[in-house]
Amino acid sequence: MSGPEIVLRGGRVIDPESGFDAVADVAIAEGRITQIGAVSPAGPSANLPDGPADVDAAGLVVTAGFVDLHSHVTDLPGMRLQALDGVTTALELEAGASPAEAAYRRAAAEGRPTNYGFATSWAQARMGEVAGFANGGTLADFLGRLGDPRWQRPAQAAELSAVLSRLAADLADGALGIGVLLGYAPAVDPGEYLQVAGLAAEAGVPTFTHARDLIEMVPHAAIDGAEEIVRAAGQTGAHMHYCHVNSTSQRHIDRVLGLVGRAQAAGAQISTEAYPYGSGMTAIGAAFLAPERLGERGLVPSSLTFAPTGERVASADRLRELRRDQPGGLAIIELLDENDAADRGLLMRSLTFPGAVVASDAMPLTWTGPADPLAWPPAASAITHPRTAGTFSRAVRLLTRGDEPLGLAQALGKCSLRPARLLEARVPAMRRKGRLAAGADADVVVFDPATLTDQATYTDSTRPSAGIRHVLVNGTFVVRDGSIVPDARPGRPVRAEPR
Ligand SMILES: [Zn+2]
Repeated sequence: MSGPEIVLRGGRVIDPESGFDAVADVAIAEGRITQIGAVSPAGPSANLPDGPADVDAAGLVVTAGFVDLHSHVTDLPGMRLQALDGVTTALELEAGASPAEAAYRRAAAEGRPTNYGFATSWAQARMGEVAGFANGGTLADFLGRLGDPRWQRPAQAAELSAVLSRLAADLADGALGIGVLLGYAPAVDPGEYLQVAGLAAEAGVPTFTHARDLIEMVPHAAIDGAEEIVRAAGQTGAHMHYCHVNSTSQRHIDRVLGLVGRAQAAGAQISTEAYPYGSGMTAIGAAFLAPERLGERGLVPSSLTFAPTGERVASADRLRELRRDQPGGLAIIELLDENDAADRGLLMRSLTFPGAVVASDAMPLTWTGPADPLAWPPAASAITHPRTAGTFSRAVRLLTRGDEPLGLAQALGKCSLRPARLLEARVPAMRRKGRLAAGADADVVVFDPATLTDQATYTDSTRPSAGIRHVLVNGTFVVRDGSIVPDARPGRPVRAEPR
């Protein structure tokens, strides 16, 4: 190997794994970090047409890029907003994708600025095997079908075995686990979920669950959504990852985390994630957004803002109309009140819970005018949930500047090392991510700790985070001097090696 291609010089280097936290140079060559310490100037490199890059990082933090376990983004501007928030790997694990191989192929053909990967999708497997819908299609197609009761009904034995075979085939193709949108299909038999978890246990990969309704919301539910995840971990031995505890638990976050904590203490493999916003966002056709069901979550029609039109939903009749005509249109849903101290406390506890990781639930842009996905920055007619652009900067800010602040290395670990560790047992690439050490993948974020903050809001949702100076993915700049590098597509696939 020749000399370094890039040297990030004199920054405060933080490695969440070793605890290394000191001023040092970081040398990068051939997509990996090659040296940390005092590094001589970068030499000429065949990989960099503009010559060697010696980057002054004095006063900046240099650390591992963020690994997002929960990103639904498939559009270039969405990925760029995530990169500008420090994300170097964005994985679609909760909804997932089936056939997974087709999703990997599409991402490779398009080229992505950030690393990518997919779990298989229980919902899409059911859409094929239970509802008979055609495979594939876009995310918009998928969102449009999400509220369709035909895929949500209890399965016959033959249908269930077809669903399980399809999930198994995707796992054999390298899918990172099984995404289970259970909360979108409340009529599904709890026994089916246990079989899906059993399949994950056999393959040695996690499940990523959007929980069923909690018993406080739906007293007649077949099973409490949190108990169901905990039970599956205990009965099958699978690693059950509990997606966005903040949004599905609402004001029951403490009860849910208490339950998870006791199960973890008893040896169950359960992990949790959260994003630091009080509102959620999903397809307006979702089962739990039916007008007659809003009360279960303490919602009214006007708790929903319909993204394609920007309107607050005025009435139950208007909600019915939107669900009928545009069921895949995304709506922002007020679940917790960010202006309320008690609700902010709940959000913080979902982030500070031991082992909890930061995950964004990032959403693709919704275009309220003509779509122009190649324009950068995105036009004002493009909107999303602020979590797409701001989750990681916001989480680091809140975790390090509150009443009981975490150390910076600890907060960063929730964004990089911990999510990588959740996957690394069966995903070799994850053993080289989430670390800032020689031999690690050169997925690096360089930021100004004094100015790092989210800037996206519900009314200005595509405003990139501030303070992120440089982002490298596999040793290639995707953000340089705070700006997107237009043609950079260094993202690589991340795949599992199932048992
Ligand atoms: Zn979800």
